[in-house]
Amino acid sequence: IDTDKKQLFERKFQAISDSMYEMNMEANKIFGLFERNQGKEAGAYMASMDRKAAAVLDSISKLIAEIQWLQKNNFDYQISNAEELKKYETYIGAALFLMVIMVTIYGHKIAQQFKKQQERNRRYTQALKEKSNAIVESEKRTKSVLEAVADGIILLDEFGNVESVNKSAVKHLGITDGNMIGNNILELLPDYQKLIKEKLNNNDESNLDTSLRQYITLEKEAGDALPIHLELTLSQFEYSGQNKFTGVIRDITEQKKYQDTIKELAHTDSLTGLANRSKLNTIFQQSIKRDSFDNNYTALLLLDLDGFKLVNDTYGHPIGDKLLIDVADRLKDICRDRDYICRLGGDEFAIVVSNISTTDVVENLAKRLINKIAKPYEVDDLKLEIGTSIGICFSPIDGTDVHELIRKADLALYSAKENKKGDFQLYNKKLNDEVMLHKMIENDLRDAISLNQFELHYQPQYDIDAKQIFGVESLIRWRHPEKGLVSPFHFIPIAERTSIILDIGKWVLMQACKDWLILNEAGIAPPKVACNISARQFEDKNFINDVLAIIRSMDFPAHILQIELTETVALKDIHHCKETILKLKDCGVSFAMDDFGTGHTSLNYLNKLPLDCVKIDKEFVRQAAIDDTTSIITQSLIKLGKKLNIDVIAEGIEDLKTEKTLCKMGCNKMQGYYYFIPISLEELKLKLIENNQKEDVSYG
Ligand code: C2E
Ligand code: CA
Ligand code: CA
Repeated sequence: IDTDKKQLFERKFQAISDSMYEMNMEANKIFGLFERNQGKEAGAYMASMDRKAAAVLDSISKLIAEIQWLQKNNFDYQISNAEELKKYETYIGAALFLMVIMVTIYGHKIAQQFKKQQERNRRYTQALKEKSNAIVESEKRTKSVLEAVADGIILLDEFGNVESVNKSAVKHLGITDGNMIGNNILELLPDYQKLIKEKLNNNDESNLDTSLRQYITLEKEAGDALPIHLELTLSQFEYSGQNKFTGVIRDITEQKKYQDTIKELAHTDSLTGLANRSKLNTIFQQSIKRDSFDNNYTALLLLDLDGFKLVNDTYGHPIGDKLLIDVADRLKDICRDRDYICRLGGDEFAIVVSNISTTDVVENLAKRLINKIAKPYEVDDLKLEIGTSIGICFSPIDGTDVHELIRKADLALYSAKENKKGDFQLYNKKLNDEVMLHKMIENDLRDAISLNQFELHYQPQYDIDAKQIFGVESLIRWRHPEKGLVSPFHFIPIAERTSIILDIGKWVLMQACKDWLILNEAGIAPPKVACNISARQFEDKNFINDVLAIIRSMDFPAHILQIELTETVALKDIHHCKETILKLKDCGVSFAMDDFGTGHTSLNYLNKLPLDCVKIDKEFVRQAAIDDTTSIITQSLIKLGKKLNIDVIAEGIEDLKTEKTLCKMGCNKMQGYYYFIPISLEELKLKLIENNQKEDVSYG
């Protein structure tokens, strides 16, 4: 074998051995990859190893062919070293053997691993496929949920540009999605830029935790009367390291309506459905503002029902409530739609009349209201009658401040009630002073009893036939520390407006009884003491008990006491009046109807009420002397009195002429300055003694 061939042979053999070594290394690498589960890389290696193995096999087969060729052609050459050749042959055999073993072992192992990996890959792909299907499905679901929710949802990038919106957002904002996506929220809601901008630009950490809540009102297109109310909640979140915002837009129009209703209810009087006191200020304020702009007046009318309390006390609250509803309806009937009627509570109402050019419009309205309220009511088969007094003031004539105007209308109402119920009174400055004075009196009156400031004076009543005192009328006086002796004309009407009159009334009864007992002790007591009782006191549910308690506590002879009532008591509720009279008459107390001729001048009462006495008012007495009709009525009264055994007393006799006129008409019981002025108890004592002496003379 020549050296060249030998070298070539050796080189080839070396290449085969290198390739096999390499193959071994590669195979180990592949196992490693498999073990680390890097199937894809292992696959690639395996492919390259396949090629390497093929190349090695190719070299081996070439080498074997070479060796075989050498052996065959052996004789042509001198093999210098047969031993060596043998060694090569052995090598080759061993290499071939090794290679077969390697391929068998590794190939099998590799094939196994490969199969396993393939299975794993298959499962992995399957799972991947399922997962991606699920993602697609879930995305679909999420999308349909987002589309279905009633709240609008918008997704914004960090600058506030709209990235996506759902159907509801489109609906709520009234902007098509085409016009929204890509546009900035600040441009879409230009009226609410400030706060939204703040939220968008806030780089504070806390911005992630807090969301912005913004109420949005969108005016609808013309034709739709009501605006839409939305609530936008803007929250920041992070997505793939980027700032994003979600906006949830909720339609709160219904909710707002509901809230408005609740608010409205808080300002509504539940009984009548009218606005209540809490609404008056706002309404009045608005009207004043509007009217001053148009150079018009706004009027405030305060109404207080007369006689409502009696209805309530007599028939109970359910009837009272129904009556109030009827009153509210009548007010609505008379007022214009734009006038605002409120019920302030109890039997008080207020009406704001706006947009008026002359004040007499309101005076006319007041008259109509008074007439309408005074018409009889039918409530649950009951026929009821009440009246109303009204106080009125005007803006800007009487001021522009709501509270001041309400106070002034209230003063006017106070005065209306005081002067003549069932009338209206406009506010004026004089009235202010007057009412302020009255309010001051009212304040002082509260302490007058405890401070012992009241006194009773007595005016004797004179029988001109018997020429003697047949009774005395007690007349209250108030010894005011600054004003001196105050006439009841100045404080009784004020006391009558409050419950003070009840205490005064009781005090009078008690004092009159005490004084009479003193006179009785002295043996000079008159046969009768008359006490004036106010309507309010007579109507009080405790009245009968109060009278009886006083009489009994002092052991006072009830037949001495005569209670003087005015017509107003009978006018309100004649049945109740009769019942009260009868109950007290049962115990011996007698009753006189005072001031005949000042009111309805009805002889009816003589028939209907169990009276013991009627007192003709001094003005009527004066008229009877000069006016035929009055004279005829007076004569009829006197005649009727005689028939029914009712005393008729002529009041206010100041001169002999009047006495004679009355005397001619058949009246013999007189009261007046002509005989006696009201005098103190001490003076009365003297007069009574004098009277008794005269009596002694005349009968002596
Ligand atoms: P009245 O019940 O009609 O009392 C008669 C009033 O006429 C008394 O006025 C009396 O002083 C006055 N008078 C008597 N004779 C004459 C006269 O010849 N000429 C004139 N011009 N007047 C005469 P007085 O005492 O000021 O009482 C006024 C009113 O005050 C009373 O009118 C009565 O309505 C009320 N009043 C008086 N005392 C009481 C009381 O104790 N309780 C209540 N509730 N009211 C009272
Ligand atoms: Ca009287
Ligand atoms: Ca009188």
